[in-house]
Amino acid sequence: MSWPAGTQCVAKGDHRKPRSGELVYNKGDILTIVDISPRKGYYKARHNTSGEEGLINSSSVRERDALRVDPRLSLMPWFHGKISGPEAVGKLQPAEDGLFLVRESIRHPGDYVLCVSVSGGVIHYRFYSNNKGSIATILLKPKQKQGTKSAELELSKTGWLLDITKLTLGENIGEGEFGAVYEGDYMGQRVAVKTIKCDVTAQAFLQETTVMTKLQHKNLVRLLGVILHKGLQIVTELMSKGNLVNFLRTRGRSVVNSVQLLHFALDVCEGMEYLESKKLVHRDLAARNVLVSDDHVAKVSDFGLTKLDSKVSDKAKLPIKWTAPEALKKEKFSTKSDVWSYGVLLWEIFSYGRQPYPKIPLMEVKEKVEGGYRMEAPEDCPPGAYALMRVCWEQEPRKRPAFHKLREKLEQEIGKCTPGPGSEPQGEIRSGSGC
Ligand code: ADP
Repeated sequence: MSWPAGTQCVAKGDHRKPRSGELVYNKGDILTIVDISPRKGYYKARHNTSGEEGLINSSSVRERDALRVDPRLSLMPWFHGKISGPEAVGKLQPAEDGLFLVRESIRHPGDYVLCVSVSGGVIHYRFYSNNKGSIATILLKPKQKQGTKSAELELSKTGWLLDITKLTLGENIGEGEFGAVYEGDYMGQRVAVKTIKCDVTAQAFLQETTVMTKLQHKNLVRLLGVILHKGLQIVTELMSKGNLVNFLRTRGRSVVNSVQLLHFALDVCEGMEYLESKKLVHRDLAARNVLVSDDHVAKVSDFGLTKLDSKVSDKAKLPIKWTAPEALKKEKFSTKSDVWSYGVLLWEIFSYGRQPYPKIPLMEVKEKVEGGYRMEAPEDCPPGAYALMRVCWEQEPRKRPAFHKLREKLEQEIGKCTPGPGSEPQGEIRSGSGC
């Protein structure tokens, strides 16, 4: 067995009395492999939360699994849907005090019934309140619906379930479509916490989170884990400079030069090249979904719509100005439709966060673009960058370049603008003279 650098491992047990050079950790802690060690059976590793580095014995950790995308993974495995009272009683056999399930009432749709096994019988509570006194027994054991898997159990087995007592929530730093985003601290690490309160949405997001557990790249916002409390809380690395649109709008040309813009473009492109290699389609690539780290690295976020297949569920929600014509018309999503969106994102970058298709009413954009209309180059945009936008906007998806080709072109562009090694000025963001 050999683990490459970057592999994430979970500690199988506590290791509190280290020998010299060894890392201290507790059961369940996540450790990242840094290098192999000359000591046989050992690796050099970094503790994900304390940041400390040291040796670990490979037999005392296991590789952190990715969660499998499993539609049966349920946040509410005790919810049995619309079943009758007698059916619920049948499911709560053999009787066991505290065994419970929740069902939707057949006679009163929208009403929920808590059914609990007590002293050999089953009590049905139409209106469940938190008031413990009103229930004849403690809810001891959820009766799992057949065919579901408890998300909580799966998440904890794979090391993606975080401990809420170790999380401190800070300021609100953003509003998502489904809930607020907070800054926070998880065992000394600065994190962002996205809260999703509604159970149904949380369930949908859980599936998306399972996609994120498989992805690790320097230009994708990294998932640290989730917390199941009041819905779902998704904990990711903190991107302290916020989203790219606001970043560029609030700084403008006087602070950010075109080389720095090219670096942001390259960052996003590399993240997308990685998604492309995993055969994943983002579907909602736009500057608002790119976040900027403390050290000005741009990372793609918001995998809310990322899907392995190419069918879309809700056409009305598509971001028209960013979506490729074939995706808008025939729901054909592909890496090449992501490339189209990437072209729009390039336009956003080089216009310092302007809204695309300025002055054109949203209703008219689709038709105009289908008729061959394309946006003009943003003011002072390097011609090389505009040429890239135009190839991304080829009507014919297969004529658009792949992300690895775009990356090569961007690297050339950066090469043209950056003076040779040794003579780079040190700028606030990333250096380069500008084109
Ligand atoms: P939604 O996709 O539901 O609109 P987002 O995930 O885009 O929600 O989050 C909304 C806003 O919260 C973002 O535009 C950004 O400003 C902030 N935000 C989200 N995730 C992070 C993060 N990891 N670090 C810093 N800020 C974040």
